[in-house]
Amino acid sequence: MKFFQNSVSAVVIVTLVIGVAAGFIFGLTLPLAVSSENERVVAYEEVAAQSAVEEAAKIAIEMGTDSAEYGLAYETLPGVQKYDGPALAQAMPIETKESWLSWMRNSRNDNPVFLEERWNLAQSFVLTSELKRSEDVRAFLLAPREHFVRARNRGLEYADTWLPIGYGATITDPDVVAMMTTTLNIQSGERVLEIGTGSGYQSALLSYLTTEVYTIEIIKPLFIETDGLYRDLEKSYPSYSTINRKLGDGYYGWEKYAPFEKILVTCAIDHIPPPLLRQLSPGGIMVLPLGPPGRQYIMEVKKDAAEDGSITLSRRDVYNGLRVKFIPFRDEAGSSYSAPAAEENS
Ligand code: SAH
Repeated sequence: MKFFQNSVSAVVIVTLVIGVAAGFIFGLTLPLAVSSENERVVAYEEVAAQSAVEEAAKIAIEMGTDSAEYGLAYETLPGVQKYDGPALAQAMPIETKESWLSWMRNSRNDNPVFLEERWNLAQSFVLTSELKRSEDVRAFLLAPREHFVRARNRGLEYADTWLPIGYGATITDPDVVAMMTTTLNIQSGERVLEIGTGSGYQSALLSYLTTEVYTIEIIKPLFIETDGLYRDLEKSYPSYSTINRKLGDGYYGWEKYAPFEKILVTCAIDHIPPPLLRQLSPGGIMVLPLGPPGRQYIMEVKKDAAEDGSITLSRRDVYNGLRVKFIPFRDEAGSSYSAPAAEENS
């Protein structure tokens, strides 16, 4: 096994060297940096590239994305064995608080105070049916919200409320995250696209439901901050290394990886973006905060394809008519995609 790994490393190194040379000769940059645990694309942000390999990897990333303006993305390489977050979630005992706590203490370094709060919040969402499936309860129990709530909001990590995360963005209320997630009915292996990475919490949670998580953020410094957070956290929470992330306008989805079985929009819009609908698989589900600025309904949209190929959409309000206030779905110039709120009639 060791011999095999060494051989693989050697092959990879040789490939990289040849790739770099080819890159310089032909103007192509093929090689991607490789880490021992999980092959993956190296940080674009490592501006002080130490070597030609790093420099080449950086350029490869820029070439490999379809966000022409920004071109910043982190994508796990196709065909590479990924850490299996859903398998971890399934292995975790959740029958009693005690068994869960002792498992968590043995496998993680999470602060025991937060573990207690996380458990209690999950239980309350089970009672309100905001968490319906055991898979979603498990994902919720594994996602350390304390790392995604920004430092200035210490003490509110498990308060059931949204919180500011800078740049005019927010981390969504945990109950809304729970409800939207449970509505998606994610099966392990399905491709899930999130629009609005924000704090990174939602996609962290999704990484315990499927190894195919894709997330897009439009605010560059926020994208960079959260990307850095995932990199720091993936040592202790390896499933975050499977989260594919891109800086760009999520209105246009992520064509390269479409179709997606599930799409989760976490910024407010008054219509379903047509590109996202196109990138949703037949039989797929999209959940989004739909409505004018300041008041949206959380909608589940199902896309069904009939035998003759015609597409039907069905919509359901998953929050029983309650309204939420997500931050606007905006374009790269900063304008909202939603029309200004109509006059209030009610
Ligand atoms: N899912 C996030 C919620 C963040 S708030 C979390 O769990 O923290 C919504 C996010 O959507 C913001 O970060 C905002 O910058 C982002 N956003 C708004 N318009 C966008 C667009 N066109 N493409 C991608 N992200 C967008």
